[in-house]
Amino acid sequence: MVIKHKNIFPTESPWSNTDKLLLCLDTGSWRTERPVLDREKCNYCGLCALYCPPQCMRDKGDYYEVDLAYCKGCGICATECPRKAISMVPEGEFADG
Ligand code: SF4
Ligand code: SF4
Repeated sequence: MVIKHKNIFPTESPWSNTDKLLLCLDTGSWRTERPVLDREKCNYCGLCALYCPPQCMRDKGDYYEVDLAYCKGCGICATECPRKAISMVPEGEFADG
């Protein structure tokens, strides 16, 4: 039996392809904390992007930016960052949180 996930979920991570079987979730709605990146400390090593489970760290050329539509607030990027450039901040501290 083939289970089709296409069109079941309204959003998906940009790396995925709805033409293929893949569980797609709006993971940004899970977040209670969001990662805030200090660009002064960041050396653009890419480890945060490598370890991010939903792959929502966007490469901006000389820094990374979190795609909040998919960031689930797990904090793995902050834990793995060797320069402690990422802080996890409660959503309540943001006007849109
Ligand atoms: S892991 Fe830390 S230092 Fe490396 S790119 Fe990410 S935020 Fe910057
Ligand atoms: S908090 Fe988790 S999901 Fe969000 S950018 Fe960091 S590793 Fe990715």
